[in-house]
Amino acid sequence: MNCNITDKAQELLDFDVKHIMHPYTSPTKPIPCYLVESASGVYLNMSDGRRLIDGMSSWWAVIHGYNNIYMNEAITTQLNKMSHVMFGGITHEPAVKLAKRLIQMTPKGLDHVFYSDSGSVAVEVALKMALQYWYSVEQPKKCKFATVRSGYHGDTWHPMSVCDPVTGMHHIFNQTLSAQFFVPKPTTKFDGIWNESDLDAVCDLFTNHHKEIAAFIIEPIVQGAGGMRFYHPNYLSGLRKLCKEYHILLIVDEIATGFGRTGKMFACEWSQITPDIMCVGKALTSGYITFAATLTSHKVAQVISNGYPGVFMHGPTFMGNPLACSAANASLDLIEKYNILDKISKIEAQLKIELNSLNSLNGVKEVRVLGAIGVVEVEEEVNLEVLQKMFVDRGIWIRPFGKLIYMMPPYVITSEQLHQLTSQFCKTVQDYLV
Ligand code: PMP
Repeated sequence: MNCNITDKAQELLDFDVKHIMHPYTSPTKPIPCYLVESASGVYLNMSDGRRLIDGMSSWWAVIHGYNNIYMNEAITTQLNKMSHVMFGGITHEPAVKLAKRLIQMTPKGLDHVFYSDSGSVAVEVALKMALQYWYSVEQPKKCKFATVRSGYHGDTWHPMSVCDPVTGMHHIFNQTLSAQFFVPKPTTKFDGIWNESDLDAVCDLFTNHHKEIAAFIIEPIVQGAGGMRFYHPNYLSGLRKLCKEYHILLIVDEIATGFGRTGKMFACEWSQITPDIMCVGKALTSGYITFAATLTSHKVAQVISNGYPGVFMHGPTFMGNPLACSAANASLDLIEKYNILDKISKIEAQLKIELNSLNSLNGVKEVRVLGAIGVVEVEEEVNLEVLQKMFVDRGIWIRPFGKLIYMMPPYVITSEQLHQLTSQFCKTVQDYLV
């Protein structure tokens, strides 16, 4: 796999393969890993001397590119003041500054912020907020969640229970996961002709079970790890109305979509809605440090405060970590400074043109683009090991899964770099499918 690899690099890889578990990988018979030494801008510098253009932004996160001087300086400045301090009974400027900005930039009406350490935890917190809300108004029977199929909300326990029951992990953990309500995935495509009947199943579910449902959770507009599907904004606005009508809280998981990825700062904006609870993560710190936040309305916060025991029952050790808050503040500075949405619409236009040729390829089911996301869905599940190596040999980093070969490059990518990425991507997919 690695051509000019040094003894030290080989030693690291040998240890890794024997002892380190990677995401969704066999602990003892993993497919090969690639050793990265450093990264800069849109490039991953590999230990064998190769330089790969990163098409994944390290799973939606590294929007301003690697080793960004402004980000590095902000974190270093904070590091020299205080890297961490407990959040119980203590606060600090980076946390306050960030909360102000998040409240200001997210849909109007989300006024309370809970910081946590990862996307899955932010979802756990959102689900718990919804449960505590209904507990506080003495409706403890409202303790189940509803969601759409093909969704994904993280790998910890309760988020797992609202992931797609087939492509998620239900089939393995079925006996122990909480049983939730699932409706079919939205069928009208993002730019398709809106079909009202898409919401019929939600209507039926709410009519029959609203007394048991605490909240409906959904990824706005883009279903990510559950299928990389883009659905119609009317679905989300219709869902918002139904949730209000049936007294069900709406949780929107913007962990993948937040901070511009779909072409709006938050994907909720396509539907002009404000959820009751919203989760952000990933690009929040531009992928510098793991961090997430759950925002909610004053109403939800007030109800929890007025109920028993009057406090929200969650408080992670690294809550409000100052380094993470500083990274998030620096990332938001860059979002403001560089007119990110304009850049994303240029990336979108280029992706639409440059991935289009794959549409006519045998074995390709659909090519779709939204914002800075380009997806090629193929007919057959891909051989990850083979295809990944082919991408690396062509100088690009793409990590397909299932039938999905996709890219979401860092926003700092230049049009020349993007052209390099898409042309090598198309050539590789062509070679793989013939
Ligand atoms: N929700 C969504 C929509 C996600 O895409 C992810 C991460 N892939 C998560 C939640 C979980 O985030 P994390 O991996 O940071 O726990």
